[in-house]
Amino acid sequence: MSEPVIHTTDVAIIGAGPTGLFAIFECGMLKMRCHVIDPLDMVGGQLSALYPEKPIYDIPGLPAIQAGDLVANLERQAAAFDPVYHLGERVEKLTPLDGGRFLLETSRGTRIDARAVIVAAGAGAFGPNRPPLDGIQQFEGESVFYMVSRREAFRDKRIVIAGGGDSAVDWALSLHELAAKIYVVHRRPKFRAAPESAERLKALSEDGTGKLELVVPYQLESLEGEGATLAAVNVKTLDGDIRRLEADVLLPFYGLATDLGPIADWGLNLDMHHITVETGTMATNIPGIFAIGDVATYDHKLKLILCGFSDAALAAHAIRPLVYPDEALHFEYSTSLGVPHA
Ligand code: FAD
Repeated sequence: MSEPVIHTTDVAIIGAGPTGLFAIFECGMLKMRCHVIDPLDMVGGQLSALYPEKPIYDIPGLPAIQAGDLVANLERQAAAFDPVYHLGERVEKLTPLDGGRFLLETSRGTRIDARAVIVAAGAGAFGPNRPPLDGIQQFEGESVFYMVSRREAFRDKRIVIAGGGDSAVDWALSLHELAAKIYVVHRRPKFRAAPESAERLKALSEDGTGKLELVVPYQLESLEGEGATLAAVNVKTLDGDIRRLEADVLLPFYGLATDLGPIADWGLNLDMHHITVETGTMATNIPGIFAIGDVATYDHKLKLILCGFSDAALAAHAIRPLVYPDEALHFEYSTSLGVPHA
């Protein structure tokens, strides 16, 4: 039997979220080739999986851009440097090799030998927090969804949104325009979302149309329906009062399960499911391994895309001397350096 192929590269990037994608560009500008691995079958991380149609307002220089469009732009920007993607594969094993290199092995048996590793794994492998309701799995994919990938699919539907954070409130505001009815179920009267969004939600619930109703303080109790088709969601107060909400769709937004999975076993210093790094280089405690974006933590860390972009630039510059130990770097702006095929 022939030996499996081992891909050799300068940098292996674990995670193709926005920061992983931008790291390809930053490494490329410093003449470093990248292989990128992600268990999702698309690039973009949370933006593609959780909110592709939502506008983002805090990307510098782009007053408003849909998450999906930002991902497409990042992919295009990275394409100049011919990255190799391994999608639908999760990095399971990371083994240090001689000469400071690393061998990565994925769930599909792909093997990558890299001089440096950038961990851009966000919250780790994706998994929604599923509410503990009997039989919920029978409705998933047809009437119960943990993310909205296409708003239009919810036109004229009666929707129950459960949760009190940003996702629940933002989707209630967004889907309100096209749904037949929206119930927002939360166990407390106060929402944890951005104050401005929470106020808009309250205003809509009081606009006299009855189209958006706040069902508080209630918790999900049980589901009714035939096969995968939902008929109603029953909700309950702590005192045991039950309400029956007739509905076509349930969207539970109880956050993502943050499971770093195999990454937690590689000997990296962790702080509450995040990898601690040195600011300025994004170096972890293992020489040659760097962490950027949501997965990385340091004092005053902000989990924002723009901070992940900056992390990527810092990591790429810290990695360059490992790949080119005998070449001094003369810093140049992209305006002077240019980009291939641009
Ligand atoms: P992620 O986007 O989480 O991507 C990480 C990738 O790593 C994933 O694709 C995952 O599958 C992959 N991965 C995990 N484990 C492995 C493994 N073992 N092997 C291979 N791959 C792995 N931020 C803003 O700046 N502005 C906003 O307006 C904004 N709005 C948001 C709205 C919502 C509803 C949500 C949920 C988030 C929002 N954010 C916003 C936050 C933003 O999405 C994150 O900060 C950003 O996605 C972090 O990017 P990342 O690349 O670090 O991680």
